[in-house]
Amino acid sequence: MSDPAVAIALEEQYLARNYHPLPVVVASASGAWVTDVTGVSYLDCLAAYSALNFGHGHPALIKVAKDQIDRVTLTSRAVHNDRLGPFAEALATLAGKEAILPMNTGAEAVETGIKVARAWGYRVKRVAPGKATIIVMSGNFHGRTTTIVGFSDDEQAHTDFGPFGPGFITVPYGDAAAVENAIDKNTVAVLVEPIQGEAGIIVPPPEFLPRVREITSGSNVLLIADEVQSGLGRTGSTFACDLVGVVPDLYLLGKALGGGIVPVSAVVGNRDVLGVLRPGDHGSTFGGNPLAAAIALAVVELLATGEMQSRASMLGEQLLAALRGLIGHGVTAVRGAGLWAGVDIDPRLATGREVCELMLERRVIVKDTHGSTIRFAPPIVASEQDLEWAVDQLTAVLDELSHRRSAL
Ligand SMILES: *Cc1c(COP(=O)(O)O)cnc(C)c1O
Repeated sequence: MSDPAVAIALEEQYLARNYHPLPVVVASASGAWVTDVTGVSYLDCLAAYSALNFGHGHPALIKVAKDQIDRVTLTSRAVHNDRLGPFAEALATLAGKEAILPMNTGAEAVETGIKVARAWGYRVKRVAPGKATIIVMSGNFHGRTTTIVGFSDDEQAHTDFGPFGPGFITVPYGDAAAVENAIDKNTVAVLVEPIQGEAGIIVPPPEFLPRVREITSGSNVLLIADEVQSGLGRTGSTFACDLVGVVPDLYLLGKALGGGIVPVSAVVGNRDVLGVLRPGDHGSTFGGNPLAAAIALAVVELLATGEMQSRASMLGEQLLAALRGLIGHGVTAVRGAGLWAGVDIDPRLATGREVCELMLERRVIVKDTHGSTIRFAPPIVASEQDLEWAVDQLTAVLDELSHRRSAL
């Protein structure tokens, strides 16, 4: 199928319209670049929302996947498999924790974290039956299941999808005093993204997470870090929590853990918390399958050397510096950490979507997050030249837009 219009028309006819994709039909990819059905290549500065931190078709990951496909792909947890133990050991070690619970998607890791925290609340902290609460942040994004969208304050995420279960209390993101005030005897956990991705790469004040860690430790409340998007190299460290020296009780991981090949997620923590689950309490048919475990083990091995993290940090400094140079030239603000940047476009010039469409014409894939913010999260294997070129394209798009505007 080499006609993009045909491919797009088919998707429009046969898919539910729960996405609004950019008009490019990808047929193949390698490293930081994707190629469409007509043979045109694009620099992928979205990297599947950071699920492709190590790039498309990373040779070490592809090799492991192919080898494992020939051996065994799925067992279910009704029996043991020879890849799950080594993966669990490697991931727990990478995170400095004792154990993991493997799932598939990010939302499932979040759901699992919620269940573990509640079970810990009733079985260890001795919260009265049915009373456990979890503190969450304004502007949060933790996935799309009904429990999770029930505590999202994004109108579109929850409108028409209720009714929702109780047990979540929202406080302003970045406000440690509000967290402290919201805690009572029924609080079992604080659930937080160390940097909010979907909200527009929102970096909280540096004292926020360390203070929340002190508060939660001091009041027998678990700290759960949703690192599904921020973790595994993206911010220039293994976890975004590392940037502020914070160790949560539970890490929620996903996206890049599957190496861009299969969905793999996990909850990582110590025995005193994860150990509250008993056989039959929780599960997943595909969670911990040997194909996923083999690939995720190879991902952890990539991260264990620290090279990906340093590269993200080095490239990210250049990218952020170049993007900050555009402030005042169509850009109103730039936020970020590591190789992860949110760029606020001056709303008088264009919407985020319009900028993304013009960037696509210049062969760069970027995606708007909220209204006028566009996100840059290229694969860590991108070159310095790739990133310089991407910023040049944004500069050209903004110039074009301001000329159009002054011509009005
Ligand atoms: C993407 C994301 C999720 C959900 O992951 P899925 O694999 O899409 O279910 C959860 N939390 C954060 C912070 C995310 O960015």
